[in-house]
Amino acid sequence: MATTNPIKLTKTDFILFLNCGKSLWLKTHKPNVYPEGEFSAYAQKLAKEGYEVEAQVRALVATWADADRYSFQRVFEPGEGLFAKADMVRDNEDGTIDLFEIKSSTSVKDRNPHNQLKDAAFQTIAAKRCGEKVRNITIVHLNKDYVREGDIDPEELLTFADETVRVKALLAETESEITEAMALLSLDAVDETSCTCLHLSRNNQCDSFTYFNRNIPTPSIYSLPRLSQAKRDLFVAEDRISLDKISVEELTRLQQPVLKAHQSNAPYINLPDIENFLGVLKYPLHFLDYETYASAIPITNGVKSQSPLPFQFSLHVQSENGELEHHEFLADQAERPLALIEHLERTINPTGSIIVWNKTFENTQNKTMAADYPDKAEFLLGLVSRTADLMDVFLTGYVDIRFDGSVSIKKVLPVVVPELSYDGMDVGDGTAAMETWARMLSETDLAKRAEQRQALLDYCELDSLAMVKILKFVGALTSNNGTA
Ligand code: SF4
Repeated sequence: MATTNPIKLTKTDFILFLNCGKSLWLKTHKPNVYPEGEFSAYAQKLAKEGYEVEAQVRALVATWADADRYSFQRVFEPGEGLFAKADMVRDNEDGTIDLFEIKSSTSVKDRNPHNQLKDAAFQTIAAKRCGEKVRNITIVHLNKDYVREGDIDPEELLTFADETVRVKALLAETESEITEAMALLSLDAVDETSCTCLHLSRNNQCDSFTYFNRNIPTPSIYSLPRLSQAKRDLFVAEDRISLDKISVEELTRLQQPVLKAHQSNAPYINLPDIENFLGVLKYPLHFLDYETYASAIPITNGVKSQSPLPFQFSLHVQSENGELEHHEFLADQAERPLALIEHLERTINPTGSIIVWNKTFENTQNKTMAADYPDKAEFLLGLVSRTADLMDVFLTGYVDIRFDGSVSIKKVLPVVVPELSYDGMDVGDGTAAMETWARMLSETDLAKRAEQRQALLDYCELDSLAMVKILKFVGALTSNNGTA
């Protein structure tokens, strides 16, 4: 049945539709139950960064001889439910217009989840339906090779990619998709009892999955790590979503512990795997955690757009007699990480293991800093060679079904060390840490700044302290008490 409410389709809605029509329907018709999760957080981040990049475009255009031909945020609303706001428009001498979409990415994205060519096609269609003749279509994005030195140089920062041909080739297809989106939005009801992402892994399902699939139990086949597409298809086709319908022989070595923990209703413990991990550790033990910041507009000299800049670390050092020291660093200004590295050099011993959670992240920072500071490379690459990833223990050594197939420290900590928690912290995850640091740097109220600083220190300290406590828990599972 068609709705009587007027339908409005914005560019953001349209991109959501391209990812999943049902998700857009839910957001439009039942906003109170629509989970404001990753897509909206991502859309908000893109919007905020888009404004920052637009400010640079405005600064650049103001220097051009034909600056008065450009306007920003022009609305095209052809009266058919379509609503578009073009980032920048040039009114050409021949009566045509050029459209510019301004993006905070370092290249043109031409695929879901954020297809920028489709964005531009949507804007073009809305402009044409308003009677405009669109000549050229440009995606303005960030130059991935630009390294800030002094004030931002908009000419170097920005790349103008002429995408007229590719966007115009998409217009017919986009017209049909707009019609489909409008037809879907006009429905008062859709099937809310299932959706098609049953065949996708959890990482590829959207935040609405649980709403549309309320009968799926926890845990389920989606709790099995790295389940192949073929196997997921088979389990779905045979209606075997519940782990109760899966047998151990059907699973890989990485997936079996999750199922065994579920079947026995007790943690799965593999002592040889745990002992192998503990066996390589050398005192003093260093528990290290970095926080990084990435932004569209490089925050300081020597930094590129969207590249992570380490600004904080927390380090717990445990000696063989169990004594624990804590060291920390938090940059009080936007700066390259030389002071951070020097503080690490003063606090990390020349020998002993470096224990991290998810070594890919920490070691990427070490390797990047080593490349940026050749005279520190020996120290930083030395850290890489001494790194042990505590997360690995929770792949096959110790698996509790309450982790729900995850090895995130946010899932593991509350189960194995319930007295420590991120709940209620002013800063509770890496994204919040980034945002808080950015706010702290520009905060003029000293009391507020001190609060923000403390919240960052508390959060990062908990990250490394959590590893100390988790290793103690793991060590207690074995006879050698967790040490080499
Ligand atoms: S999980 Fe369901 S609602 Fe979400 S994108 Fe997939 S089909 Fe759409």
